[in-house]
Amino acid sequence: MKKIFLLALTVVLIVSGASVYKSQAQSAAEINAIAAGPKILVLNYHQVDDKHSSLAVPVADFDAQMKFLVDSGCVTITPDELYAGLNGELELPPRPVLITFDDGYIDNYTNAFPILKKYGLRATIFVIPAFTGQYPNYMNWDQLREMESGGVTIQSHTLTHPKLEELPDDEIRSELLNSKNLLEEQLGHPIEFMAYPTGTYNLHIAGIAQDLGYKGAFTIKYGIVDRGSNFFALERVPIFHTQTTMKDFYERIAWRQSFEEFGWMKR
Ligand SMILES: [Zn+2]
Repeated sequence: MKKIFLLALTVVLIVSGASVYKSQAQSAAEINAIAAGPKILVLNYHQVDDKHSSLAVPVADFDAQMKFLVDSGCVTITPDELYAGLNGELELPPRPVLITFDDGYIDNYTNAFPILKKYGLRATIFVIPAFTGQYPNYMNWDQLREMESGGVTIQSHTLTHPKLEELPDDEIRSELLNSKNLLEEQLGHPIEFMAYPTGTYNLHIAGIAQDLGYKGAFTIKYGIVDRGSNFFALERVPIFHTQTTMKDFYERIAWRQSFEEFGWMKR
């Protein structure tokens, strides 16, 4: 009896897992479909500021990076377009880039937003609604609304930025659901994408996010998004302030180009 129960449980776990995590490509046709599909560069920023912090990209460097994207013919897209592009419902531009910021720091409004507007670039910010308008170093609701009217998309980074894998299920659910509800109420559009706080995630958390109506979630797993990616474990390329910020930025972007040129598969 116990054996049958365990077997049934295993089957249920495998089946439910499959709905969240796509199985790896098995056939040549699947691998070809992935290779032929879009390759989406998702950049991950936190702060744009001249203060000394690895999370803060200096303002002039951020400006140069945005200019580089424009000069290279990159076209910025939204999470909805990424989703539709991967599903084959939308033809994406040749060099699609999703510019993302985590946490919703005030400098995204004061420093990054003017530069994004200058170059006509779109971006996505994953905010922590419990911090929004509560602390001086985070943006307030009016600033978020103003940014949304200027080409920025706001999505969820959970309600209070906890380490999700350390929480019981009911708290994971409330973090994901309350942030979604509060953002939808304040901003008046569906919230269907999130970034995992601290980048950590697992199959169980991904399943809860999917149950609550999210369509995708971003990690800090280093890589390029393509049709082999998992909607609930989307790769990003983090951009930090380092000793050689610009050199590191170019190398990270160059990695993408060589990746495409040589047709390397990541799985
Ligand atoms: Zn964060």
